[in-house]
Amino acid sequence: MKVKWRWYEIYGLTAGILVFGLLVMFAGTSLAEKETQALLIGLAATLGVGSAGVVMTVAKRRGKLEHPQAQRVLVWSLGVLTAFVVVLFIPTSGETQAPRKCGTCQIPGDHKATDARKQAGGALLSKLSTTVKNDVLTLTIYDICIGKVSHKVNRDGPVSDQQVTVTDVTVLTRKIKEEVKTIGADVVGITELRPEYVFTHDLEGNPISLPHKYAIVIGVGLDHNLAGPSAPLPYEKYYSSLPEDLAAALSGVTVKTDREVPKEVVEEVQETMKFFSEGGSTAVQLAAYIRSLGYPARAHFHRWGEVQIIPLAIEAGLGELGKNGMLIGPTIGPRGSFAVVTTDLPLVTDQPVDIGIQEFCEACSKCARSCPVQAVPWGDPQVINGVMKWPLDGEKCFQYLVSHPKCLSCIGTCPYNKQKFLIHDIAEFMIARKSVVTNTLLTWLDDFLGYGKSALPVNTDAKG
Ligand code: SF4
Ligand code: SF4
Repeated sequence: MKVKWRWYEIYGLTAGILVFGLLVMFAGTSLAEKETQALLIGLAATLGVGSAGVVMTVAKRRGKLEHPQAQRVLVWSLGVLTAFVVVLFIPTSGETQAPRKCGTCQIPGDHKATDARKQAGGALLSKLSTTVKNDVLTLTIYDICIGKVSHKVNRDGPVSDQQVTVTDVTVLTRKIKEEVKTIGADVVGITELRPEYVFTHDLEGNPISLPHKYAIVIGVGLDHNLAGPSAPLPYEKYYSSLPEDLAAALSGVTVKTDREVPKEVVEEVQETMKFFSEGGSTAVQLAAYIRSLGYPARAHFHRWGEVQIIPLAIEAGLGELGKNGMLIGPTIGPRGSFAVVTTDLPLVTDQPVDIGIQEFCEACSKCARSCPVQAVPWGDPQVINGVMKWPLDGEKCFQYLVSHPKCLSCIGTCPYNKQKFLIHDIAEFMIARKSVVTNTLLTWLDDFLGYGKSALPVNTDAKG
């Protein structure tokens, strides 16, 4: 007997198949991330949707869907489902407000360049800078890790007097980006170097002069597991016996001890810290290459930088500023380490992106909830030095990190700290639509599925 399907029945089955596919994908993703809770929920929901499809097909074949009441229930259910899905994509924030992109929105004339010594942890970095300068034998493990770019030594150098004529800036820009990714970067963006993003003085108090026109921002992403607060760091087994050395290693405090740090510890810390060095190493190589073309170029990374790296990364379109003070980008989430090459080589610049992260942060605040010292704010962004941003207490964070080097709670609990999977890409696509309903739902789902639990004691009394 030939069964004739009506439009709403086909629609219902198609919706069911789509949901089924999403749930299968979700279950697969969860399995890969070893999230047992999410896996069980995913499988249960998959079974539920799958059996609903089978029941509907059987009922149709037996003519039970032909009853007017069954048809009414089906049409109404599909209507409600459709309305709900549409609501998920209706922008409810961001579009109607005045431009307020955190980190890049400036009050004209109010944004002034700052001194590198005034940045978070600046006092400690200044001390380190002087120590290393005066006593080159006293290196930190941190310095050993980034030693391949040898502090200060290779950041700048002589420029070739045979200047290459640039005939096609677009092609050159594309080639430079490809090359930078080949030698180690995950993401690359280019922006104009505005003077307010150049520090007035370096960590040793020397005035900075950096008249370059462009900034090439290079980003390297840490593995998402290493950024998780509950992820065992490779050196954890040594933690109880060598806390001060390891705290020193991660905080950059000079290691002065008569005990020898075991070779395996150094190797494992080096592995963990590798990502800190990749950006700097790549920047040094790129700057040297540009100078060989006959254009000035200087590399900036970590405490050897003369520019504010995060604002430049935002301007270069690598992501948006999150509530946790990190740049959050589509490729590397909140786990990026950045370096910059400033230059006069003619290049095509990128534009800042607007992918709904700031609106999502307003619904989320998981980083604020998980920060053990409440260094991450709960409330709205504020204007600081002429720039709209969340007032992260960098000094509080830095002080805590010195004695708790494992704290990456604000990164590990962030819903953006996930492996790259299609299901997560779909979530990012939905977040970019800027619906409060979607953002609230996804934040709730992230908690419900047990993602990003903090391994550290959290002050649950504090809430904005
Ligand atoms: S690293 Fe730790 S202390 Fe610092 S802001 Fe993040 S959660 Fe707070
Ligand atoms: S945890 Fe939430 S609020 Fe914090 S940066 Fe990530 S998305 Fe934004």
